[in-house]
Amino acid sequence: MKELIIATKNPGKAKEFAALFHKYGITVKSLLDLNTEIPDVEETGATFHENARLKAETIANKLETTVLADDSGLSVDALNGEPGVYSARYAGEPKNDNQNNKKLLQALTSHSNRAARFVCVLAWAMPNKPVIYAEGSCNGKIAKTMSGESGFGYDPLFIPKGYEVTMAELGSEEKNTISHRFHAMQQLETTLVEKGIIKS
Ligand code: IMP
Repeated sequence: MKELIIATKNPGKAKEFAALFHKYGITVKSLLDLNTEIPDVEETGATFHENARLKAETIANKLETTVLADDSGLSVDALNGEPGVYSARYAGEPKNDNQNNKKLLQALTSHSNRAARFVCVLAWAMPNKPVIYAEGSCNGKIAKTMSGESGFGYDPLFIPKGYEVTMAELGSEEKNTISHRFHAMQQLETTLVEKGIIKS
């Protein structure tokens, strides 16, 4: 295997995956690198697994090649797992990180339990083969106010377990060693090597 398509139009995500697959001699391309226009796949699933599979399978079947997709979000205990699969659009359309964070603070005003976790599910789809999944999470809690400038999404409110600062104050280098995405990628790497799909 020489080339892998990542089902994303986000160059930052494609870069993270490129770093992982580089050592296996696999070149990573995002949907932005293709000559064909691929319409956005609607995330209609009720779980991270369903959404990741929908994106990976739809595009793998269309392009007839191996595709990796991810779906991620924030799960807050006191809110029964919300915003979950609705993390990106928690405060409505169009998606807005700042409004999402404000809505989350509002929703937690009467709760003392602020435990939360980021979750990432990866789906690896090869044409006519069962999808391979990997999952990673990052435990932490929701701060009382937003702080920090780096990262995206709920990073200004998320204090990872073992830290006193938010993910947005940590910076991307440190974040990439503890994040849900990093843990999911590690699990995927182990599974793909075990199955002989990638070889070092
Ligand atoms: P997606 O999987 O890229 O669609 O991400 C869904 C949403 O989950 C994002 O828009 C963010 O609101 C949230 N999210 C996912 N990963 C992170 C993260 O690493 N930091 C902060 N928010 C995240």
